[in-house]
Amino acid sequence: MKLFGVTITEMPRNELKETLVHRIDQGKKTFVVTANALIMLKVAEDPTYKEAVLKADYIIPDGFGVQLVHKLKKRNGFQRYPGIELATDLLKEGKKRNWSFYLLGARPEVVEKLAEMLKEKGINIAGYHHGYFKGDGPVNEILKLSPDVVFVAMGAPKQELWIAKNIDRFERGLFIGLGGTFDVLSGFKKRAPKWMIKMGLEWLYRFFQSPSERWNVPFRIARFLLKALIYTRREV
Ligand code: UDP
Repeated sequence: MKLFGVTITEMPRNELKETLVHRIDQGKKTFVVTANALIMLKVAEDPTYKEAVLKADYIIPDGFGVQLVHKLKKRNGFQRYPGIELATDLLKEGKKRNWSFYLLGARPEVVEKLAEMLKEKGINIAGYHHGYFKGDGPVNEILKLSPDVVFVAMGAPKQELWIAKNIDRFERGLFIGLGGTFDVLSGFKKRAPKWMIKMGLEWLYRFFQSPSERWNVPFRIARFLLKALIYTRREV
């Protein structure tokens, strides 16, 4: 599906997962964007960010808003693949295949706890670094460690801008932007209950988790839907 000039993949979840697993096994350099309404709004309104996202090999439909827009185009067979679920699937595959992971992002205590938890589960964590750094951060360390997968969980736009800026320096590895995933996987925050996820209300749950930080999210989602509607009308 094309939206605001970028292509969101319509590959079924399994096929997408298999494709990414294969690319990681081959050491093929890959950049994945997990697109939700807020990311797509930024694509529509910020040319620098759009340029970064256009460097991605796969833009996957993370959020309900993106799925809704797809439905408005009356197309079938479009499954969401939330970043946190893809990350969990990759960790499972990585354990079987002994991939090495690098965790970049979140607060120091969050990423450290997550690294420890994953190591205890037998996952090969090559290294980790918090997401509050100046400049390019641990690029040289990651270059040296040459991990199979780099989870970049610093929120949008920072994570995609970091990947787009630095990916040319790497020869291998899958780089994926994962937003607030580390907070949830480490247990510092809870993911929304299943019924809310199903009803497309995950954003509302996250809004109530930190209303002072996310007060403008409902407005941004509304702006995204409006812009997407105008865009799709023009397209059809
Ligand atoms: N974060 C970071 N560096 C920053 C700003 C944020 O590592 O400079 C982290 C933050 O600690 C949180 C994540 O990025 O773990 C962003 O979470 P949020 O839920 O806001 O992101 P979203 O999923 O909405 O993109």
